[in-house]
Amino acid sequence: MNRIRLLSEDVVNKIAAGEVIERPASVIKELVENSIDAGANKINIFVRNGGKSEIKIVDNGIGMSYDELCLAVQRHATSKLKTDDLVNIKTLGFRGEALPSISSVSEFSIQSSNNDSMGEGHELSIKFGKKLTIKPIKKLRGTTITVKNLFFSTPARLKFLKTDDYELLVIKDFVKKISICNFSIQFNLFVDEKNVLASLVQDSTDKISRLRNRTNDVLGKEFFENSILIDEKKESYSFFGLLGIPTFNHSNTKNQFIFINQRVIKDKSINQIFKVAYKDVIPYNRFPQIIIFIMCDLHLVDINVHPGKNEVRFKDKNKLNSYLIQTIREALKKTKLKVSTTNTKHITEKFKKELPNIELKLKENHKNFDEIEEHKLLEHNTHPIYPLGFAICQFHKNYIISQTKKGIVIVDQHAAHERIIYENIKNDFKKNSISRQILLIPVIVDLDQTIFKNIKNKIYLLDKFGLRVEIFGVNSIVVREVPVILTNSKIKQMVEDVLEELVDFDSANLVEEQINKIFSSMSCYGSIRSGRLLETDEMNELLRNIENTKFSSQCNHGRPTHVELDLVDIEKLFNRR
Ligand code: ADP
Ligand code: MG
Repeated sequence: MNRIRLLSEDVVNKIAAGEVIERPASVIKELVENSIDAGANKINIFVRNGGKSEIKIVDNGIGMSYDELCLAVQRHATSKLKTDDLVNIKTLGFRGEALPSISSVSEFSIQSSNNDSMGEGHELSIKFGKKLTIKPIKKLRGTTITVKNLFFSTPARLKFLKTDDYELLVIKDFVKKISICNFSIQFNLFVDEKNVLASLVQDSTDKISRLRNRTNDVLGKEFFENSILIDEKKESYSFFGLLGIPTFNHSNTKNQFIFINQRVIKDKSINQIFKVAYKDVIPYNRFPQIIIFIMCDLHLVDINVHPGKNEVRFKDKNKLNSYLIQTIREALKKTKLKVSTTNTKHITEKFKKELPNIELKLKENHKNFDEIEEHKLLEHNTHPIYPLGFAICQFHKNYIISQTKKGIVIVDQHAAHERIIYENIKNDFKKNSISRQILLIPVIVDLDQTIFKNIKNKIYLLDKFGLRVEIFGVNSIVVREVPVILTNSKIKQMVEDVLEELVDFDSANLVEEQINKIFSSMSCYGSIRSGRLLETDEMNELLRNIENTKFSSQCNHGRPTHVELDLVDIEKLFNRR
């Protein structure tokens, strides 16, 4: 039976034109998705040189007959659209573009058999778009596709590829995602013959234990252990997966795995929604770690947005967003973690988001600290020259209450201090004057081999940030010097975060955005952690620092570092006015 037919011109036109194959990881994505559509329950992926010299995908799916094989490599030939309906697509592929595209830019061969026993199969080879041969072979049911020397015939595209290590990282990221998304398929990734990722299939039908096992296989035990399980249905949407607890956060969104109707999806707006949902419980420059399976009726989501098929468009995005936020917040609340509650809303409305201009010219008015002290005594602790007043107490080990002339100010000690460090260190950087401290005991950090290779030639860049880091042994580095301001921080974790940012750097010329990201990671570690008791002196010092730091009333993402409540409003709350 021939399963493959040519699409009508109408549908072909509806399908947005564009390139599907950008890099080795996109070849793997297309081929693995084909294997999944072919019903395979075991998929082995082999790569060499970051996939540039060879990629091989071996599956045990339904395979192809001789006729199907010949059609499969033609443009817009697919077995997956039975009608011209682009709405009810259940398969991962449907555009009939991948095989012809890949075979036009590589040395490509497919071996396939749809025989149940070891029997007749065929091998078709195409070299950079030219069909060479098709010959009978003996083969077990399934398909093996080999892609060699990707883009060798198109130097312009080849030049666009990054280093082998970088390409390998992108591949690994994809394989992690696709294997978390498909519990019932066994995946293996072999890099130069070495099995670097193996996810086994469990007999159990219980989806929670399958999720746990798969997560453990792919991301390590830590992920499941530090997460809250969600399994919610809201109208036509259902949400299943793992929400990392707020303290189990990450320096970027790489550990946010989003699956919509069993597809791996990249959607920045959903990353943004996570940020909003975790807003009150996570430092502003950290990101929650999440695995989420969003399921909904097929007609509520359009997958034909981009040829890569990793973007979607929802009919009612607002509804989805609010259900998502609701689901996440409810889950966080249930675990007794602090999220903003509705009964404090009334009070928080009274708080002013921005303080009146606090960039006081302290130094101009008062030449020395003694003079300030004198004023302080005269004015009973609430001297008007200090817009943020004087610290009265600390509560919940994270907030400072300070009395001002007009009322009270509440300061988020962690957010405020982080901002101060960030601004200071950035300033020092601009002036080329970050003061460093040699570590008494150098800190050794072991790295993932791929990350190590990637950053090996770039770590000298960190010198500019006040970090002296050297190669140490096979896959390790040693940290010898850090900025003074960070001497008391958790150096190992801080450096790990910074290195993660460094992986994405792709030239020796640092751009502002990259610099800020690095400083943002660093300042998080240098700041007073929430949860630390402060002495009154320390609290006042922090208040003075906020007053003297530019842009310190808000953090990078617009959250206030402190809020003010007027005496008038306080009195209203107690019906005194
Ligand atoms: P699409 O996946 O959009 O249909 P492709 O170009 O990726 O387009 O593949 C064309 C056709 O080749 C598929 O529709 C399918 O019938 C067949 N095919 C591709 N890969 C496999 C595979 N691993 N096993 C069985 N059939 C396959
Ligand atoms: Mg396909």
